[in-house]
Amino acid sequence: MKKRLNWVKFQFAARPENIALARVAAASFASQLDWNLADLDEIKVAVSEAVSNAIIHGYDRNPEGVVELEMSLLEGEVLEFIVRDSGKGIPDVKQAMEPAFSTLPDSMGLGFTFMQSFMDELEVESSPGRGTTVTMRKKFPAEAGV
Ligand code: ATP
Ligand code: MG
Repeated sequence: MKKRLNWVKFQFAARPENIALARVAAASFASQLDWNLADLDEIKVAVSEAVSNAIIHGYDRNPEGVVELEMSLLEGEVLEFIVRDSGKGIPDVKQAMEPAFSTLPDSMGLGFTFMQSFMDELEVESSPGRGTTVTMRKKFPAEAGV
């Protein structure tokens, strides 16, 4: 386990209005490393996709749900973002992570694909009825051209 040098953790209601807040918080936390704007955008997209999933799928948009966002700076200039919900969970994580898989008819099913391509590591733990934890890590500096 890498040592944590800095961290912040907060919880918010599962309301779509809070997705923008999570984006800004992620970008702000990330800014303690000197990312370029494109990398910061990728971080914002990855975090907001995970938060959107928690709200839309985890809690089926029930605003009573609580979403947790935990952000850490790990030794070696690695940022870690953990998005947790205590919602309905994912029955088949492997299938859910496939590009274009979605359980909603009008969704593209690309959230996990963005998280995967914009971050260096993506781990998804989920159990039906208990919730989902998405862990993403990105090493600074990002590899050029990836
Ligand atoms: P898009 O993100 O492109 O709008 P999407 O949300 O359906 O569409 P993904 O983000 O890739 O696509 O998620 C794939 C599927 O995984 C979802 O359709 C949903 O069934 C399931 N899923 C993802 N996150 C969660 C979660 N936190 N709780 C329950 N199910 C989830
Ligand atoms: Mg999604």
